[in-house]
Amino acid sequence: MYDPKWMPKIYQFLCNGCGACIETCPTGALGRQAEKAILAYPEKCIYCAYCETICPQNAIELPYLILHYEEDSR
Ligand code: SF4
Ligand code: SF4
Repeated sequence: MYDPKWMPKIYQFLCNGCGACIETCPTGALGRQAEKAILAYPEKCIYCAYCETICPQNAIELPYLILHYEEDSR
């Protein structure tokens, strides 16, 4: 289910429009608008993080939920 809270975030003020993320995305989820990358088809995103890794501007961030478990000491 699409939830904007758990989608890649593209910080427009950092993006220089190089297009590397758009070319790398294996599902075609990214697009371009006003010379910046956008998540054009969020429903296509498989959360692979390739876009986050390749961006030279660190303009893309994928939110993660980190769970901490207490070890059972019994
Ligand atoms: S790789 Fe980064 S800088 Fe290049 S278009 Fe994508 S978000 Fe913008
Ligand atoms: S996380 Fe993967 S599927 Fe989602 S937009 Fe980035 S490269 Fe595309």
